[in-house]
Amino acid sequence: MARIDAKRDDLISLTQALIRIPTLNPPGDCYREICEFLDTRLKEHGFETELVRATGTPGDSDRYPRWNIVARREGAGAGDCVHFNSHTDVVEIGRGWTRDPFGGEIDGDLIYGRGACDMKGGLATSIIAAEAFIEVYPDFQGAIEISGTADEESGGYGGVAYLAEQGFFSPQRVQHVIIPEPLHKDRICLGHRGGWWAEIETFGEIAHGCMPFLGDCAVRHMGAVLERFETDLYPAMAARRTDMPVIPEGARQSTMNINSIHGGQPEQADDYTGLPSHCVPDSCRIVIDRRYLAEENHAQVSGEVEALLKDLAENRSNFRFAMRELNHVAPSMTDRTAPVVTTVGKSVQAVLGKAPDLVASPGTYDQKHIDRIGKLKNCIAYGPGILELAHKPDEYIGVQDMLDSAKVMAHTLAQLLLPREAPRT
Ligand SMILES: [Zn+2]
Repeated sequence: MARIDAKRDDLISLTQALIRIPTLNPPGDCYREICEFLDTRLKEHGFETELVRATGTPGDSDRYPRWNIVARREGAGAGDCVHFNSHTDVVEIGRGWTRDPFGGEIDGDLIYGRGACDMKGGLATSIIAAEAFIEVYPDFQGAIEISGTADEESGGYGGVAYLAEQGFFSPQRVQHVIIPEPLHKDRICLGHRGGWWAEIETFGEIAHGCMPFLGDCAVRHMGAVLERFETDLYPAMAARRTDMPVIPEGARQSTMNINSIHGGQPEQADDYTGLPSHCVPDSCRIVIDRRYLAEENHAQVSGEVEALLKDLAENRSNFRFAMRELNHVAPSMTDRTAPVVTTVGKSVQAVLGKAPDLVASPGTYDQKHIDRIGKLKNCIAYGPGILELAHKPDEYIGVQDMLDSAKVMAHTLAQLLLPREAPRT
């Protein structure tokens, strides 16, 4: 714990350095640069490193290669491997900033920048925790891994999913995974809800807008779909509660967002001064974003929407539709009694003097790939930062939060990798 306090300045400068590498996704900028930075840093501390390009995954190109780094530090003998996985990509800047988004400016206890909390602060925290632990206990048993991975913000296919396919998360190689996403230093996140994304199209027939009765308006058909969502689907979803400890409370049920709607002529650019021509739209499309619970399954979720559309096709004249799945992610929930949960829980208690809150995330993160592709169930998200700040302007991370979290992580390493010795607090 003292060793971590002594690394305060190092933690600050490491976090700032990571923020200053603008790893925007899309398009996937500076992935190689941040991997090389981590490569140098971790090699200096006795890690062996591998840089892995996720060739051929979505977005990967010679201009924007999907680079990942996996670093491993072997201990003095056989034992478990504890892996800290952080994504290196950040989302777009957006409007409303009063700080330099890539400046890593520090003001009092807070470091500002895009990715400060989601999740370069968490990455820096895990590195400091591991380095401090290794310095104090060079003869630890087992291994410590730290990875920096691409594309979490766009599904993780060029990052953790690819590494899992290559065997980096096999239970033979790794036994405990901690993902330092910004869930807060006193919370352990067991998993996340599932997600199902689909496009629905209704069809009509084009005609002159002055004689709409000669055509068939696809937008009105879509209106009927939306009405059925309001009267049937939303109330049914709201009635479905989950045992998953999802935060915030509003996400402890099935939810659905209508992501976009479009029908008829394409919208013109803002500087276009012409008027629309008069046509009955023959197509209308929406994209839906349905988040579902561990108690539901993929077939039920898609089947429910499809049944509603089929019912309309039987009962509404000329109603024709198409439904296309865009993406699907299954829910993931680590057991409350899994070793990584109980161990980190004890460390939170020891360091912060309180029992952790066990939570689940409303949205998905890379745990899905570690669970489904890697077949590794002993995985949680635990890290510093405030989830609500993620993707917002003036995103920040607290230095004290990072130090506290680093102590929890180092204490966890001591519990898992010092089998014959009680961790020193
Ligand atoms: Zn994140």
